[in-house]
Amino acid sequence: MKLKLLPSTFNENGGYSAGQHLTTFLIDGRVALDAGSLAMAASENERRSVRDIVLTHAHLDHIAGLPLFVDDLFASLTEPIRVHATREVLEVLERDVFNWSVYPRFSELHNENGPVLKYRPFTLGSEFSIGGLKFHSIPVDHKVPSSGFIINDGKAAIAFSGDTSSSAAFWGKVNERTDVKAVLIECAFPDRLAELAGASHHLTPATLKAELEQLHLDAQVCVINIKPMYRDEVIMELRETLDRVITIIEPVREYHF
Ligand SMILES: [Zn+2]
Repeated sequence: MKLKLLPSTFNENGGYSAGQHLTTFLIDGRVALDAGSLAMAASENERRSVRDIVLTHAHLDHIAGLPLFVDDLFASLTEPIRVHATREVLEVLERDVFNWSVYPRFSELHNENGPVLKYRPFTLGSEFSIGGLKFHSIPVDHKVPSSGFIINDGKAAIAFSGDTSSSAAFWGKVNERTDVKAVLIECAFPDRLAELAGASHHLTPATLKAELEQLHLDAQVCVINIKPMYRDEVIMELRETLDRVITIIEPVREYHF
């Protein structure tokens, strides 16, 4: 399985930088996991290939690029863009984003080939497939209804937390599996902002260390969703706090699992 984080911040020369304001992971170049920077950072090839978007939750940094992505492709789509999300997330999209005031309600619009946007609801804890990829949703503990996933391509699986605080349910499901090669887990804030992390249901290096004690598989640990303002600080603390090798996921690089 191929995984790539799309970039969402710029350096002084106009190129991308490592900070991650927005979240979009592309799986095998064709399924988007969240859509924060999808419209802004997908290549032309990726723009042509991605027709399925799976959402963890409805926070802005995970959906900001979705309306613009549909807008960009509106006239050229020969099949609808399919958004896979829980009913709670889809309701937020329809009520607060695609409401004709913030952006057009694309779910009611057609181009000459048919509908441009379709919703594929799933329930937390359920399983669904997209092409050859199997998604197993796991409810995680964030400020709003949120899903993590175990994603299997027939050969290997990765576990993806999305945004979460401590989540025994996540580790319980991960430990049940024998195919999980990598765990991608968030760490949004440094330890000095533990109070803010607690209030917003995110992890810090110290709480991530406690989470990883619940991981009983021999899987690669990859850290994602570090707030860009604290990136260097969080990475330094992670290196000091954790007694294992971790991978900090960087934008644009392709990771193979
Ligand atoms: Zn969030």
